Amino acid sequence: MSTLETELRFELPEELEFFRREARAWVERECPKAWAREAEAREHEYPFELWDKLTAAGYHGIGIGEEYGGQGGDVIVQMLLARELARSLGGLAWIWGITSFAGGKSIGLYGSEEQKQRFLPATARGEVRFSIAFTEPGGGTDVLGAMRTTAVRGDGGWVLNGNKTWASSAHVADYLLLLARTDENVEKRHQGLSLFLVPAKAEGVQIAELPKLGMRSIGSCDVGLTDVFVPDELVLGEPGNAWRMLLPTLNNERIILSGFCCGILDGVLEDALAYMKERHAFGKPIGQFQILQHYVADIAMWRHSASLVVLQAASLQSQGKECFQETSIAKVLSSEYAVKAADLGIQILGGMGYSAETDMQRYWRDARLFRIGPVTNEMARNSIAENLDRPLSF
Ligand SMILES: Cc1cc2nc3c(=O)[nH]c(=O)nc-3n(C[C@H](O)[C@H](O)[C@H](O)COP(=O)(O)OP(=O)(O)OC[C@H]3O[C@@H](n4cnc5c(N)ncnc54)[C@H](O)[C@@H]3O)c2cc1C
Repeated sequence: MSTLETELRFELPEELEFFRREARAWVERECPKAWAREAEAREHEYPFELWDKLTAAGYHGIGIGEEYGGQGGDVIVQMLLARELARSLGGLAWIWGITSFAGGKSIGLYGSEEQKQRFLPATARGEVRFSIAFTEPGGGTDVLGAMRTTAVRGDGGWVLNGNKTWASSAHVADYLLLLARTDENVEKRHQGLSLFLVPAKAEGVQIAELPKLGMRSIGSCDVGLTDVFVPDELVLGEPGNAWRMLLPTLNNERIILSGFCCGILDGVLEDALAYMKERHAFGKPIGQFQILQHYVADIAMWRHSASLVVLQAASLQSQGKECFQETSIAKVLSSEYAVKAADLGIQILGGMGYSAETDMQRYWRDARLFRIGPVTNEMARNSIAENLDRPLSF
């Protein structure tokens, strides 16, 4: 079989299809759309119940090796779970995604054996929550240029000072996966950075929730650090080398996020089709109006395209093949399709699309973030163009 044929095979093997169906049934039972709608709207009330449900299902163990008490599962499995969760939960799916990335993925990749033994089984059992604290008030795109947080060598560890912003779920986290400068005397800005697991309740850590457009019950937080001591055993990987270490995880993060976007596209299409059958105008179901049929045709085409590019990126990543270009393309396309689809979904539902009693507005608010974080689509486009051999534009 040629490489092209291998890479263009998109049918899921039976065991993956089974996993996806099981995840769909679990979501319908434990956190269907009406449940998610209510949970999202409770501003600043973190849905611990959802965390516990995910724990009971074993989903915090997806992506963590069985030898560390997890369920295993590569990036395709993680993407499928992300998609099924987001179909109902929208952005609340981050409750699973943040700890999966900052805990399971990062410690699994860069942790010492001692750190893996300490954190991975507890993460799989849902006993530890993480938050990602990379972005600083001075900017997230130029994260290296904006970085002011420093860590200075102390006795048996490091002393951290600085500020982070937008650290989602930091207020309920046990640990912050935090990037800080440990060496000022470097030739290039990406050098001299280190990754810490900062205990969120440590002395000197101040956390305050920010008001925001979507995912209202999941707090995103400002984090202040004043002389916070972090012992050596909570440094992840080799000090000074964090940036190089983090780069390979970017693909994973983009694929999971693209999975969330596909889930939102699923939810939008289902809800639009259902409403077009039940709502009547001028004596017929609104689904008979050609323009609305064209709207759902567009949503279906966007969903189809997003599904294929995301599955291809995940498939390449799971085979260990170079796929930064494919994951960047998947991230940009799927997030833009999800936002456009939710916007048309609102139009199809008319006034009900704007109502807090339906999910379209929630899908739109949550999807809107995915064009911004974890990397903006402008910056992702820069990477795509650079990969086409264009000069650096900034
Ligand atoms: C709800 C929410 C949750 C978040 N959660 C987390 C989290 O858990 N942990 C975390 O660390 N961060 C988190 N973030 C931060 C997120 O990663 C940043 O918002 C994102 O990286 C963009 O950074 P910025 O907001 O500082 O925008 P800026 O970097 O200030 O960018 C502003 C604009 O300038 C554009 N721009 C900048 N540079 C260029 C360039 N070279 N070429 C073209 N355009 C450019 C950007 O694309 C954007 O349009 C979250 C953000 C939000 C809103």
